[in-house]
Amino acid sequence: MHIYLYIVAAVLFILGIKRLGKVRTARSGNTVAAAGMLLAVLGVLVEAQALSWFWAAVAMAVGSVIGWLVATRVAMTAMPEMVAALNGFGGGASALVAMTEQIEDTSQVTLATFGGMMAIAVPASIVIGSATLTGSGIAYLKLQGKSVPHPIPKAQRNLAHAAIAVAILAISLWSVYSTGAWSMTSMVLLTLLSAVIGVFLVMPIGGADMPVVVALLNSFSGVAAAASGFVIGNQMLIVAGALVGASGVILTQIMCKAMNRSLLNVLIGGVGDGKVAKDAKDYKNIKSTSPEEVAMLLDGASSCVIVPGYGLAVAQAQHACANLAKEIERRGCMVRYAIHPVAGRMPGHMNVLLAEADVPYEKLLELDKINPEFQSTDVVIVVGANDVVNPLAREKTGSPIDGMPILDVDKARTVVMIKRSLSPGYAGVKNPLFEFDNTLMVFLDAKEALQGILDELKGM
Ligand code: NDP
Repeated sequence: MHIYLYIVAAVLFILGIKRLGKVRTARSGNTVAAAGMLLAVLGVLVEAQALSWFWAAVAMAVGSVIGWLVATRVAMTAMPEMVAALNGFGGGASALVAMTEQIEDTSQVTLATFGGMMAIAVPASIVIGSATLTGSGIAYLKLQGKSVPHPIPKAQRNLAHAAIAVAILAISLWSVYSTGAWSMTSMVLLTLLSAVIGVFLVMPIGGADMPVVVALLNSFSGVAAAASGFVIGNQMLIVAGALVGASGVILTQIMCKAMNRSLLNVLIGGVGDGKVAKDAKDYKNIKSTSPEEVAMLLDGASSCVIVPGYGLAVAQAQHACANLAKEIERRGCMVRYAIHPVAGRMPGHMNVLLAEADVPYEKLLELDKINPEFQSTDVVIVVGANDVVNPLAREKTGSPIDGMPILDVDKARTVVMIKRSLSPGYAGVKNPLFEFDNTLMVFLDAKEALQGILDELKGM
């Protein structure tokens, strides 16, 4: 019976992931995948006959309540932190499953006696799971803007990492061929060293690259889960882990490509780690304007493109943005939204926000579709976006956004930039667009500015 539940669950996972690939179907994709997870849990309950139903019910109730509370309370801007935490717990859980198996199995005989699969899967699950747990913890802190410096000087760091990696390999081997107290000792050492390498590997990576690291750790948590699936002989866990592992890697690749960076460059780059460019505030020829003037501009415009960015999420201005767009349209001006693949702080961030405000999907245009349209656009309103419209990306200056494809908003007749100050974006570089002749700055919180423009327009 359980095998049928597993098959249906696996199919639902695949369908769910497929639907998550498109904005229009993403919400239902989430529900489909959640239904798959429910069937998977039911399958485990049916399969594991020796299970204590009482404790299973307690564990599920506690987990569900915590999950519900956290998911309903988390702010949209803190979503990457939540994903980091969930990845970490996933990795930790896989490591615990493998440890339980090692403790139970190795009191008399070695892991090696159970065959090659166990000999590889148990240490792999412990190593990848523990490293994912602690690495995700560091990613969580960095996403919160906390500085977590590496304790080892840069010059000796790679050597230290390599030494720990060699020690992990050696202890893995020891743990496979030892029994009793030695097996326990090797397991504890393996867990500790893996936890340390997880911390050390994430520490030098720049704060701006943490979302990519979270996607990579997500993939690792899947690999750890698949390994623990081999440990306990559960096909569902193997399938689900493999799906998470593979989709995490694909997402990591997509994110790197959108930023025109290689994964290696992300892992050693140190981008956005508090290194704000010296000339970030060194601007000339800044023209600031008011919501009233922007309303006048829009009153005479026939086409308008709105470019949302991270600041829209911070200000929770999606509803104000949608309302303003409706009013502009009501006055006979065509309005579209330009969505950059890495706008915000997680993939699809802007799509999710705008969907919340019921912006029709067909109005959201991706980079390659909207870029040729800017030349014939009267007014572009950039709402809390910065790096994704920074023309510096087109030049070879050695900046972190070098070569990143950007939205060519500077080609439009007038660019209105709504942000609170001249502060740089996440990459920490100067944005020459602020100084362009056709750029007008509105130095206000996004919600306040959009609401102000809407009020002025309505009063005209
Ligand atoms: P940026 O981080 O470049 O800029 C956001 C701007 O929003 C800031 O300059 C800030 O300026 C402004 N802002 C903040 N709060 C408010 C507010 N309340 N009202 C108005 N403005 C506000 O964001 P982008 O979306 O343009 O770019 C995303 C960046 O994140 C890129 O560098 C990308 O590579 C990176 N990234 C994104 C990932 C993703 O998956 N989306 C993954 C990895 C990295 P001020 O303080 O002056 O208001």
